[in-house]
Amino acid sequence: MHSFKYIDGKLHCEDVRVEKIALEIGTPFYLYSYQTIFNHYNSFKRALKEIDPLICYAYKANSNMAICKIFAKAGGGAEVVSGGELAQALKSGVSPDKIVFSGNGKTEKEICFALKSNILMFDVDSQAELRLLNKVAHSLGKNAKVVLRVNPDLNPQTHSYLATGLKKSKFGFGFDQALDGYKLARDLENIKIAGIHMHIGSQITSLDPFVEGLDKIIFLMGELKKIGIEIEYINVGGGLGIVYLDEEPPSLENYAQVITSKLLKLKVKVICEPGRVLMGNAGILVSRVLYRKETAEKTFVIVDAGMNDFLRPAFYQAHHEIKPVRQKEEKEKEVVDIVGPICESADFFARDREFPKVKEGELLSIFGAGAYGFSMASNYNFRCRPAEILVSGEDYFVIRKRETYEDLVKNEKMPDILEI
Ligand SMILES: *Cc1c(COP(=O)(O)O)cnc(C)c1O
Repeated sequence: MHSFKYIDGKLHCEDVRVEKIALEIGTPFYLYSYQTIFNHYNSFKRALKEIDPLICYAYKANSNMAICKIFAKAGGGAEVVSGGELAQALKSGVSPDKIVFSGNGKTEKEICFALKSNILMFDVDSQAELRLLNKVAHSLGKNAKVVLRVNPDLNPQTHSYLATGLKKSKFGFGFDQALDGYKLARDLENIKIAGIHMHIGSQITSLDPFVEGLDKIIFLMGELKKIGIEIEYINVGGGLGIVYLDEEPPSLENYAQVITSKLLKLKVKVICEPGRVLMGNAGILVSRVLYRKETAEKTFVIVDAGMNDFLRPAFYQAHHEIKPVRQKEEKEKEVVDIVGPICESADFFARDREFPKVKEGELLSIFGAGAYGFSMASNYNFRCRPAEILVSGEDYFVIRKRETYEDLVKNEKMPDILEI
């Protein structure tokens, strides 16, 4: 369900014409629908109402403050993986007791910041991190609540870069090492064990890995009980896939049903960390065709957005639907590569794709760009990162200005030896 649709042949986001925004603020830009984000959050919450989990939105999917505030106002928590994301969650009005801190490489400074902010808990990734967390908590006179991230050693059947629950993955405690991790946590004075965490990957389109993962977590819970460790929380992570092209991800209802049927009877508190499923289809990237170019092999459509703005096609070979902002009447199609201006051959949005014939100056929209879009953007090729726009009904709001050349150099310093 999303709010991007053609009305009289013109693409709209809710009630605003995409073309109008492009004329007023220029291209490229990310465009998000408030209504879609709000609906996604509420559908997620409704599907899981029996379990009534704490929904910690995964900030890395899209950490714009306005977006974060939508979730905070709806009552959601935050799953953060850096000090920057933690600061953003606090600024966006998320109550600290709804913030969980994940990631395999938290620094001492970040741990200190999180403890002083009184966040709900840490998703701890290793024994070494447990020891550091204990040390920092001790020095601050605090206790750190933890769930250990357990790697259930399974194949989530997604792109290899998006799989995090395989045995060879860098994340979490190996399934056979989890008990030792919990024993250490129990012995550390300033660590309080709250529960178990798993996050097996992203863009998962089958329920089986979730079922398998949960079964392993529940087995582990039994083993822990035998040695006197009680589990209060189970954090099931994120990872639910969405439709980019023709994927058939589980419905929210079926996903919720798995979690509910496995966890309700255990009387544990549940935490979910959805990212993509909330934001992915709530945003598009709008770009203008700069040039057409025909070589002996191919026809290229060169647009003004690049892989620095939107990395997923280059990084994951991800397929994203692309459509002209003004619907084409003529049925004429051609096979093209849609590419950006970056000096890299990986700078493409579509390859050998059958596409309506577009002219220079036309606007294109790349769908499914709301999650892992702007948050992965960079300044490569010394380009200004794009603007971000939020639409609500008939209004649109610039929620992040397009960067300027001054922004590009604002942290640069000239050493004396080069001053004239
Ligand atoms: C990235 C991440 C998520 C969110 O994953 P999605 O696939 O976007 O739902 C949740 N939890 C952790 C620990 C993550 O790293």
